[in-house]
Amino acid sequence: MQNSASSKEHPTDKLYDVVIIGAGLAGLNCALTLQERGFSALLLEAQDDIGGRVRTDNVDGFLLDRGFQVFLTAYPEAARRLDYRKLDLQAFLSGALIHTNGRFIRLTDPFREPLAFVPMLASDIAPLTDKVKVAFLRQRLMSTTLPQVFKEKDRPIEEKLTADCGFSQTIVERFFRPFFGGITLDKTLSGSSRMFEFVYKMMAEGSVVVPRKGMGAITRQMAEGIAPGDIRLETRVKAIDRKNCQVELESGEIIKTRAIVVATEGPEAHRLVPEIEKPASRHATCLYFSAPKAPLDEAILVLNGDGDGPVNNLAVMSNVSSEYAPAGQSLISLTVLGETGPIDDQRLSESVLKQMHNWFGDQVNDWKLLKIYRIHHAQPDQTPPWLAEPSRSVRLNSGKDNNIYVCGDHRENASINGALASGRKAALAICEDLKVAMA
Ligand SMILES: Cc1cc2nc3c(=O)[nH]c(=O)nc-3n(C[C@H](O)[C@H](O)[C@H](O)COP(=O)(O)OP(=O)(O)OC[C@H]3O[C@@H](n4cnc5c(N)ncnc54)[C@H](O)[C@@H]3O)c2cc1C
Repeated sequence: MQNSASSKEHPTDKLYDVVIIGAGLAGLNCALTLQERGFSALLLEAQDDIGGRVRTDNVDGFLLDRGFQVFLTAYPEAARRLDYRKLDLQAFLSGALIHTNGRFIRLTDPFREPLAFVPMLASDIAPLTDKVKVAFLRQRLMSTTLPQVFKEKDRPIEEKLTADCGFSQTIVERFFRPFFGGITLDKTLSGSSRMFEFVYKMMAEGSVVVPRKGMGAITRQMAEGIAPGDIRLETRVKAIDRKNCQVELESGEIIKTRAIVVATEGPEAHRLVPEIEKPASRHATCLYFSAPKAPLDEAILVLNGDGDGPVNNLAVMSNVSSEYAPAGQSLISLTVLGETGPIDDQRLSESVLKQMHNWFGDQVNDWKLLKIYRIHHAQPDQTPPWLAEPSRSVRLNSGKDNNIYVCGDHRENASINGALASGRKAALAICEDLKVAMA
């Protein structure tokens, strides 16, 4: 338990202006925004700690993010809310190492690493025209505003890359499929081209980083700003009574309030309020291994450019921040996309290690499995037309009981930025409505 202010044992006797269900990024940002505007908010969280999908576990001194994820410093909502200096952000190198045909080839960003770009031009990772198009795409997106990005025609990413941008199948297979497949958790690249352009723009305008003490430091920093006693952990909401503006907990306790915010993952939001559209789920599995020696000495993302083997992407997290592993050890994060449910841990780990043996040789015999995270709902599936409405309303106004609000990545887009934006928007809508109600 990281927030000493939060509790699970005491029933709530205070009447809060707002009850928020779920203490992930969206719920936390909603609570902070309400608090800053003078409204009281109670966060109810089903799990044993805050953070939702952005949490970090400490296992024998290794920091394990619950699924490999990165933070983009250009996210505008994050810049509003977070103290980057205190997070002590540690950057990945730009570009990626791509494993293809039995070797690693570097793909670099010419604007950030011009010296490394010259050898890349000569490499056979992709035709020269593709390498130039990568640079043009970056420039075009940097001069496009975010609202414009979300107004562009939405189509599957692969179609956008080939039909619109004119990239060859070679660079799609070797770079875009593992890279954006890893970001959207979908190797078929059937996700939203608006999301692709949004992420590409954010990467061009800032750095790809993790906080020194793991991704969970982001949600921990937010929770530190919540007033004492206003977070209840291990408190699952069973049902919402819209008519009486109250929630029923699994324990049977009833909490009355003036407004309720559903800040859970999309499928659970739909269970609580069926009127909320249910997104399909993108799955991800992350395997963590410790090693006495890192297989690489750089803080760089490694991609599977051939599509052979289960692992899509790899990073030596202890190369990005030394805090991720105890002294003298390395932490390796491996991501497998798609549902791995039917494969047991031992078989999954064996097939992953077989692939890694092909990549790095006998040193892999010394790797030790630390933990496997299988995340069933890692992101909402944003296959077009999911983002046709780039931002869904945070107000649920059907019927006369308009005291229910909803926020989370499924209302905006599947990113840290989207979840934060949606939490802030829900809070602002409540402030407006409660002030009107009081007038
Ligand atoms: C593997 C993975 C990789 C990702 N990679 C990136 C990345 O690189 N960059 C990026 O920007 N984004 C990434 N994302 C997406 C990003 O993490 C999410 O979009 C974001 O964290 C969602 O926040 P949220 O607040 O909407 O939902 P959540 O974090 O899911 O929060 C919902 C909360 O509600 C709680 N809850 C659910 N039901 C109940 C109930 N009945 N009662 C009480 N509480 C309940 C849950 O326990 C949870 O804490 C990734 C996500 C995953 C999982």
